[in-house]
Amino acid sequence: MNRKQRIMLIRIIVSAVIMVALSFIPSSGALRFVLYMLPYLIVGYDILLKAFKGIIRAQVFDECFLMAVATVGAIALALYERNGDYTEAIAVMLFYQIGELFQSYAVGKSRRNITELMDIRPDYANIEEGGKLRKVDPDEVETGSIIVVQPGEKVPIDGIVTEGESTLNTSALTGESLPRDVHEGDEIISGSVNMTGLLRIRTTKEFGESTVSKILDLVENASSRKSKSEDFIAKFARIYTPAVCLSALALAILPPVMNIITGNAGGWETWIYRALTFLVISCPCALVISIPLSFFAGLGGASSQGVLIKGSNYLETLAKTKIVVFDKTGTLTEGVFEVNGIHHSSIEDEKLLEYAATAESASSHPISKSLQKAYGYPIDRSRVFDIKEISGNGVIAKVDGKTVACGNEKLMKAIGAEAIPCHSIGTIIHIAIDGSYSGHIVISDRIKKGSAKAIEKLKKAGIQKTVMLTGDTRKVAESVASELGIDEVYSELLPSDKVDEVEGLLERKAKNEKLAFVGDGINDAPVLSRADIGIAMGAMGSDAAIEAADVVLMDDDPEKISKAIRIARKCLTIVYENIFFAIGIKLICLVLGALGIANMWLAIFADVGVMVLAVLNAIRALFVKKL
Ligand code: ADP
Ligand code: MG
Repeated sequence: MNRKQRIMLIRIIVSAVIMVALSFIPSSGALRFVLYMLPYLIVGYDILLKAFKGIIRAQVFDECFLMAVATVGAIALALYERNGDYTEAIAVMLFYQIGELFQSYAVGKSRRNITELMDIRPDYANIEEGGKLRKVDPDEVETGSIIVVQPGEKVPIDGIVTEGESTLNTSALTGESLPRDVHEGDEIISGSVNMTGLLRIRTTKEFGESTVSKILDLVENASSRKSKSEDFIAKFARIYTPAVCLSALALAILPPVMNIITGNAGGWETWIYRALTFLVISCPCALVISIPLSFFAGLGGASSQGVLIKGSNYLETLAKTKIVVFDKTGTLTEGVFEVNGIHHSSIEDEKLLEYAATAESASSHPISKSLQKAYGYPIDRSRVFDIKEISGNGVIAKVDGKTVACGNEKLMKAIGAEAIPCHSIGTIIHIAIDGSYSGHIVISDRIKKGSAKAIEKLKKAGIQKTVMLTGDTRKVAESVASELGIDEVYSELLPSDKVDEVEGLLERKAKNEKLAFVGDGINDAPVLSRADIGIAMGAMGSDAAIEAADVVLMDDDPEKISKAIRIARKCLTIVYENIFFAIGIKLICLVLGALGIANMWLAIFADVGVMVLAVLNAIRALFVKKL
C-alpha cells in the first residue's frame, strides 16, 4: 500500500468510527447536522471537490458527479423531511471509497507485478579503464566496445562474448526458466542476467538498437493500441452517463407531475429519493476499471511466458485465429544448416565453399550464416564488392574480381548458368563463377524440437488449418510438412509470392476467422504485416521481424503460438464475463431502484460488490502459466 492508499484507509476508518459513535449519541437539529457532516466530509471531501471541478470545467458526467449529486441529494432529503437520517449519505460515500481503495490497490499491484516481470531495463554498463571498472550510461557505449558483465548483473547491450564462461538467466525475456550456458564466441542478448562467471563482451549494437530497448519500447507502447472492447467501453460511457442522468431527472420529475395532474399528492420525496438511488446504482465503475485491467493483465501474463503482444487489439485477433500460416526456415526449422556435401565442383571443394561464404558475407539469411560457419575461417571482406541480395533467390557478388552467384536454381536460370540437379535431400545452393556453373553445396536444416508438438497443440486448440510457405524446393518442403502434419504446403515461393498466397488464403476464409502468419522476418516481413496478425520468431536475431510483427515469441519456440492463442482466449472470456456481469447487475439494480425496491444501501453494496468481483476476475488474466 502506498502513502495515498494508507491515508484513504485512515479516512475510511475514522469516518466509520465517528458514524457508528454518533448513532449512540442522541442529538437533534442543527447540532446533529453539523456532527454528521464531520464523517461525511472526512470520507468524501475529495469526491465533492472533484465533482465541483468537473462542473466548473463543464465535464460533469463522471462518477464523482454521480456520487456527489446522490449523497448531497440524500442529505437534502433528510433535511427536508426533518428526520435527521444522514447515515445513508455517509454510508454511500464510505462504501464508494472502500471500493475505490480496493481497486487502486488491485490495479497498482497488478501493474507492479507486470513491470516486475518486465524488469529488464539495465541501468549501466561497465567499461574497463586502466584496470578499473567504470559504470557508464549504456546509451554512451559505442558499437564494438568491450563491456564487462559481472555475475549478478544484467547484460545491458547485445554482443558477443570475447572472454569468460557463464550461465545466463533469460527468463525475463523468454519465460524459459532453464539457464543458458555461454562461452567465448557466443552471441548474447541484452536483458538476460549473468549468473555465474565474469564475461567480457564486444557489443554488436547500440543500446537503442539492442533487444532490451526494443522490447521495452514494445511493452510501453502496447497499451496505447486499444482493442475494440476498450473502444466500446469508452463509447458506452459517453452515452451511458448522460442517459442515466437524464433518466434520473425524469424519474424525479415526471411521476410527481403526473400525480399532480391526475389530482393526487405529488410524492416528491419518494421519487427524488428513487432518482438519487438510481444515480448511485448507475456508476459504471466496475466496467470502466475492469476491462482495461483485464487486457493489461492478459498482456502481462503473456509476456511472463515469453510472448510479447504489442497491443490489446491483437489479443482480440489472436483469440479469433483459425488459420495459422508458417514460414519454414528459421520458424519450423532451426535455420542452422549443416553442409552435407559438395558436388560437381569445377574447382576444389574447399575453394567453392570459400567463394560461396565470401559472396554471402553481408547476407543475414540463415543460409549465409551457415555457409560462413561451415567455411570456418574469418572472411576478408575487402575481397568482396558489388553485393546484391536477391531475396528468395540468393546473392550475387564480386569476389577477387570474379562474379560469384550463389543461390537456388531460379538464380542460376536468371544468370544463364545450367544448374546440375541434385538428388540428395536438402537445400541445394548452386554456385556459378563468372556465369559458368561451378557446382553445388547440399545443406540441410533440422526441424525444431518443438515444431511437431506445436502443430499438434494448435489442432487441439481448434485451429482449422495449418499452412507452410517456403522459398525452398518442393522436395524439402513436402518432407518437412509431412513430418509435422501440416495441412497445406506451398513451395518455391519468392517473398512476393508468399504475400500472394496469404492474400489468397485471406480471401477464402470466413470474415470473422482470423489468419496468423508466423515467420522469422527474413524474406517474410511483408507477409508478417499483411496477415491479420503477424507472429515473429527469431526475436533474438531479426530486427525486421520485431518491427513488422504484432506478436513476438521471445524464445523462437513455435509451441508458444498455441499458448498465445489460449492466453488471448482466456483474456477475452474474462472481458466478456465482466461486461455481461457488470451491465447485467447494473440493469437489474436500475430497474429495482426505479421501482423503489432497492434503496441506496443495496445500490452501493451492489456497485462495490460487482466492482470487486470484476477486478478479481480481471486479475485472473495474469495467471496463464498452465495454459
Ligand atoms: P524460407 O521460405 O524457407 O524461409 P527463403 O524465402 O528465405 O526461404 O529462401 C528461399 C530460397 O532462396 C532458399 O531455400 C535458398 O535456396 C534461396 N536463398 C535465399 N537467400 C539466399 C542466400 N542468401 N544464399 C543462398 N540462397 C538463398
Ligand atoms: Mg524464412
